[in-house]
Amino acid sequence: MSTGWRLSRMGTSVRESATLRQNALVAELRAAGRTVFNFTVGEPDCDSPQVVRAAGHAALDAGQTHYTPTAGIGELRAQIAATYAPRHGLAWQPSQVIVSAGVKQVLWTALAAVLDPGDEVVMIAPYWVSYAAYVRMLGGVPRVVRPPSGREYKATADELGAAIGPRTRVVLFNTPVNPTGAVYSADELRALLAPLRHSSAILLTDEIYEDMVYDTEHVSPVRVLPELADRTLVASGASKSFAMTGWRIGYGLGPEPLIRAMTNLQSHQTGNPCSISQHGALAALRAAKSEVAHIPALFRTRRDVCLEILQRYPEIRFPIPHGAFYFFIDVQPFFGPWHGGKHIETSEQLADHLLQEYGLAVVPGSAFDNDGGIRVSYTLPEADLRLGLERLARTLVQRGA
Ligand code: PMP
Repeated sequence: MSTGWRLSRMGTSVRESATLRQNALVAELRAAGRTVFNFTVGEPDCDSPQVVRAAGHAALDAGQTHYTPTAGIGELRAQIAATYAPRHGLAWQPSQVIVSAGVKQVLWTALAAVLDPGDEVVMIAPYWVSYAAYVRMLGGVPRVVRPPSGREYKATADELGAAIGPRTRVVLFNTPVNPTGAVYSADELRALLAPLRHSSAILLTDEIYEDMVYDTEHVSPVRVLPELADRTLVASGASKSFAMTGWRIGYGLGPEPLIRAMTNLQSHQTGNPCSISQHGALAALRAAKSEVAHIPALFRTRRDVCLEILQRYPEIRFPIPHGAFYFFIDVQPFFGPWHGGKHIETSEQLADHLLQEYGLAVVPGSAFDNDGGIRVSYTLPEADLRLGLERLARTLVQRGA
């Protein structure tokens, strides 16, 4: 007999993350003995630095196993304020910092603190998988700007201005961009975000890949538009910069009233972020550059390896990534008939076919609200990366022949 499950609006409004689904399929195929090159992973493949692991052990041994203040321990909030003040050119105070269980929780809590049902959130496609899910779960409405691939999918002020309307509550921005690897320059930010001056929208800027930048520098919007600082929340964290995904530490820096509201929400939701992880993050932020710089350096090398391979195939088009650890390949030229009779019309069909027939796991662009692409992560060891990417490039260009 059916139990007649009645799920809530939130319980039915969200699909399983495409990344997780692909990863489950990879595990299944590997269990069946197949070789799979997994280009779907969104985390550094190296372990957390020694200095971080030692701090975690020390915190555990020192009995740091209790609840902490909701917004994080004082030393960590002070360290985050001190680390980001020079980067942002702002005199951040510890009271303007919240520590949460990853940037995921920072973004969720920030949106929950400001969105009412029907409020609009402007975002630029392709955008990270969870943005629209958060907005929908909270009863908000995503308003999506769709810049063309030829411009590295970077939006212009006119496009952003046209999307901002009377119901716009938040502009949700990301640099370096997951999935394209685009990095906005200071001039681009100044121009792009100018329309925000004529609206009351809040700027929520996700800078989790700020340390993964290659042949350019990361600039936070709050640095070039300090006049928006009283309605900007910067989100970043330890996951990527310090290879600490499992520790679950993210931080938000912003105006005190917003930080207070987020802290109230967090106090009921999860309480404080993990006590031991906070000590790990503190050690990471205090570490000498030499103890953590190998992480971005690893991805710069890999990015260059990928470029060297992909640029041998002129039919394969993509914006050259200057940050994060992804390529977003335009696969529209490869839609249509494939060798073996398969007809491919969507990024999901392509991703399924690549995985099932060729052992190549990629994330379909539809997961990022752009069906014309696939995301390829370079978070696998260099030898696998070379082999797998050659296979991917050849398979695409020859349509599986
Ligand atoms: N934002 C972006 C753009 C991401 O790519 C990720 C992780 N894939 C996150 C936020 C969430 O990171 P975390 O919760 O581990 O800090």
